[in-house]
Amino acid sequence: MDWIWRRFVLFGLVALLSGLFGMTAAAAPIAASQTCHASGSGGERLGDLDRAPQRWICSDATYDVGPESLFLRFRLGDPAQPRAQSFVTHASPFAAITIRVTDADGAQTTARYTGEAARHLVAGPMMVLPLPQTVAPPREVAVRIDKPWNKTIGSEARLDSEPEGSGWDMAVVVTMAAICGMLVVPLLLNFGFYIVLRREFVLWHIVMVGLMLVQSVFGTGFIHILANPDAATEISINSLCFGAVAVSGLMFVVTFLEPDALPPALRRLFFACTPLVMAGGVFTALQFDVLRPFSALGIYSAILLAICLIVCGLAAAWHRGSKLVVFLMVGWAPTLLVGGYRIGCYLLPGTRPTESVVLFQLALAAEVLANSLGIVIRFLELRRERDLANARATELEGVAGRDALTGLWNRHSIERRFNDLFHLGYRTMAVIDLDHFKRINDRHGHAVGDSVLKVVAATLAEDAEACAIRMGGEEFLLLLRGAGSAERAERCRRALSARITAAIPGLEHVVTASMGVVEHDLSGTLDVEFAVLYSHCDRLLYEAKRLGRNRTMRERLTGFTPELQARTA
Ligand code: GH3
Ligand code: MG
Ligand code: MG
Repeated sequence: MDWIWRRFVLFGLVALLSGLFGMTAAAAPIAASQTCHASGSGGERLGDLDRAPQRWICSDATYDVGPESLFLRFRLGDPAQPRAQSFVTHASPFAAITIRVTDADGAQTTARYTGEAARHLVAGPMMVLPLPQTVAPPREVAVRIDKPWNKTIGSEARLDSEPEGSGWDMAVVVTMAAICGMLVVPLLLNFGFYIVLRREFVLWHIVMVGLMLVQSVFGTGFIHILANPDAATEISINSLCFGAVAVSGLMFVVTFLEPDALPPALRRLFFACTPLVMAGGVFTALQFDVLRPFSALGIYSAILLAICLIVCGLAAAWHRGSKLVVFLMVGWAPTLLVGGYRIGCYLLPGTRPTESVVLFQLALAAEVLANSLGIVIRFLELRRERDLANARATELEGVAGRDALTGLWNRHSIERRFNDLFHLGYRTMAVIDLDHFKRINDRHGHAVGDSVLKVVAATLAEDAEACAIRMGGEEFLLLLRGAGSAERAERCRRALSARITAAIPGLEHVVTASMGVVEHDLSGTLDVEFAVLYSHCDRLLYEAKRLGRNRTMRERLTGFTPELQARTA
């Protein structure tokens, strides 16, 4: 796994560096000598503004998408520039765009476009409309945008010398593509982790990175390699993804950090706010016509809320001494900063939000690198904890499940394992109790009694197809499988006397044992409870004792109907 990581980190660094390098070289749009904008009611035309030129605002870039129409005017002063051929702006919904070109001779041509006419670029989240042709080179381009949904349609607008429009530079495109590719790697790694270690935080990271990938494919315009969604669909999917990324990010923080890293009240606030955050995304995605100018506010307030919560969460976790919070801080600092900047771009005039798209993708790359590293470390830590816990459990079970004197399984462990053993074919149960054992203790002492018990245990444990258990005191249980299991149990019982005599010389009496045996019918499909079978054996053992000891009482069970075949040994 190590080599995957080394490659992954190297790839990420190359992508980040080439991205920064690429961003310094901008695309080559036509530089307008003056860009102005104005707002107008639905019925107004470009000619109306010609008659009221004082309405053009040329000093700032406070695009107001509230009114029905947004007007833009580009003046082209430099005749040495290449001829302007297209109008390029951020891909965002609109009802219609009217473009009027005035050429150097004063001749005008006008074209009107609806959303379907806009050609979307692959290299960036932009759309292109061709300028209507004029004989002489254009001197002025005036644009009327009806029902603009987002101020970016104004702030990102420019003229381009390419009829098809030009998008990001190749270096930026390559970087963005590399980042999309990079998102796939942690996605696959996380899937692997989840299979091994089913932790909720891994799942949230998968959801988050998966949605980031979808969002990146839409946000960068790459989706147009595969399909041709219109700006409205793009904005909807983008907003839903953004909302869901923010929600899964919040959930990731809660589940990834140590359980006590967040104060309980803040934890509850995280959970309480997730529906609100998602609602913001849904609000923007639905694109209510009446709320058109405020549509983008939904997703921006959702992101702002998520950023505030995450910043509070990280600060609280840091304050409470969380070790894991460092990964989140390193990973999310760029994303949080760019997220804030992006919201700032929306709210503040004169800013270019699509620049933040590039920055945002770079920040995502940093996030994915740092958090994936955090996940790997957390994963290794959890696996170590789990292995330790497993080892400890096995150790404890070993100690707790065994009888200290004889080393045989004790009653507790057989009760737990009986079902498994029964299904493995251990269907004959024999309960063996030493006769007059108390006398041995009384006459030879407790230590000799213990030695007798050890010999009994060793004798019972010899049958490879039997499990020997010390039920308590001088009572033992055998679970047997295979051919002639009842007969093998009987041979064992009989062998005890000779084995004890041989191992412990000087005993006053020959030690004997009584036994109750139940064979469960092999063809029976019904499950049997340990207690049921054991009480049958116990009853038979009592019978054997009553009839004079040193004997076996045997019974065969078919299903639950006992078919008495008792015989005395
Ligand atoms: P019976 O034939 O009816 O089974 O008579 P018994 O004497 O074998 O049965 P009883 O239940 O009267 O006595 C069992 C004795 O086993 C009593 C107890 O002191 C002894 N015993 C129980 N556990 C141990 C042990 O771990 N070591 C030793 N040495 N003796 C034990
Ligand atoms: Mg006894
Ligand atoms: Mg007893």
